[in-house]
Amino acid sequence: MIYDLIVVGGGPGGATAAKIAAESGANVILLEAAEEGRYKCCAGGIPIRSEEFSPIPHGVGDREITGGVLFTPKKGPMEFEASGKNNKGYCMFRTDFDKYLLDISQDAGVQVIYESRVKRIEIGKNKNVKIVGTKEFQSKCVILATGLGGAQLQRTLGMEVPPMVSGIQAEISVPESVIDDQFGNRIWEFFDRSLIDHGIAWVFPKSQTLSIGVLGKGVKMSHFNAFLKSPFIKEKIEGREMKVFGGRKVWAAPIPDRLITKPYREQVMVIGDACGTADPILYEGIYQARLSGKIAAEVFCQALEKEDFGESELARYNELLLKHLYEEGLRYSYKFHHLLYHSGLLEQILEASYSIAKEDPEMMQSTIALFTGSETRKHSWEVMMSRKWKLIKLLGIKNSMKLFPTLLETQIQDLHRKKREKQE
Ligand SMILES: Cc1cc2nc3c(=O)[nH]c(=O)nc-3n(C[C@H](O)[C@H](O)[C@H](O)COP(=O)(O)OP(=O)(O)OC[C@H]3O[C@@H](n4cnc5c(N)ncnc54)[C@H](O)[C@@H]3O)c2cc1C
Repeated sequence: MIYDLIVVGGGPGGATAAKIAAESGANVILLEAAEEGRYKCCAGGIPIRSEEFSPIPHGVGDREITGGVLFTPKKGPMEFEASGKNNKGYCMFRTDFDKYLLDISQDAGVQVIYESRVKRIEIGKNKNVKIVGTKEFQSKCVILATGLGGAQLQRTLGMEVPPMVSGIQAEISVPESVIDDQFGNRIWEFFDRSLIDHGIAWVFPKSQTLSIGVLGKGVKMSHFNAFLKSPFIKEKIEGREMKVFGGRKVWAAPIPDRLITKPYREQVMVIGDACGTADPILYEGIYQARLSGKIAAEVFCQALEKEDFGESELARYNELLLKHLYEEGLRYSYKFHHLLYHSGLLEQILEASYSIAKEDPEMMQSTIALFTGSETRKHSWEVMMSRKWKLIKLLGIKNSMKLFPTLLETQIQDLHRKKREKQE
């Protein structure tokens, strides 16, 4: 049997792409390496805008989130209370969320096969694609949605793999009333360069669990242990048990921090983390993986109508990805990333921005939007830059001088990317 589309990987990106393609009448199979209901190392925070792909049913969205807290050692908690229906989100277990997404893709007609790791992909001129795993399958087109677990497949297809950083996380059992009292319906992000130089730590509250983790460049177990021992966290988790998933209490996983330049070739499109779509301000990638899946599925449907899966037809995927995900989004996330994590002024910038935001509703709204995605990253960047003199005053001239090389570097990276795109 020859499928119209094989999707490799059943995370949020793959499940979204497969569902949309099947809804348009295509014959779609999705191959997932793990067993049904696998644990995924992820804090599970998603903004409400994720519902543009499918509603999040009660129970899957484990805790509704209505605010955030940024924490620096000097200032302690800096609180943001979001208002309006576009500003909330959820903290959920990926086990439930990913299973739900695969269930609804099956309802749409996708054939989902669990425990089916793809080991090889063969593409011959003017032929169908051959996928070799536990069995062999053939299709007209493939969407690679393997997260960062499919790097080898990408390399053998001559495709780029995104650069990545690492995350380490544990899920800690805590009674709901204690979570309500100590953390509330807010996600907590910790910024402390003495703990993690280029990264972030967090506590994401679920209904009866706290997801606690660290993420960034060069992150190791020692960073995670140091975070658990930091005074604020230690006091709150004293005597609490870590939950066990797949025989392990502590999980580690990579996350990409840059888009690849060419996420397509004839008969293949790469989406989600495999393509580097995650946003490296707060390191979130679920929404972005789903958006790239939606775009790839729509490009696939047009290609199917023409029965043309050649490189120039699938190049449209990259154009749309740049338009919808990069131009007003990731491009500015990379600027924020550089400013925060590469300037050596992480805590100071956050503290100064918060001081401005407390007196300035537009700055407050655009800072909240960094958590919720209710406004574009471009807008948040422009709002921040229009307050640059206030920022410089709060940071002091000596510190502000350190920002210039960082800002220049973001401009140079932009230019490099444009040049590479032109060459492609
Ligand atoms: C510690 C940590 C915390 C995070 N917290 C958040 C957060 O709070 N919010 C947020 O939005 N994002 C978060 N992220 C990022 C988020 O997890 C990813 O961006 C998201 O999962 C990407 O989805 P995806 O579908 O591209 O890939 P994945 O979710 O990784 O799914 C890929 C799937 O492909 C399967 N697979 C791999 N190789 C093969 C193969 N050869 N054959 C068949 N199947 C294969 C895997 O088993 C997996 O199920 C976090 C990441 C980490 C590491």
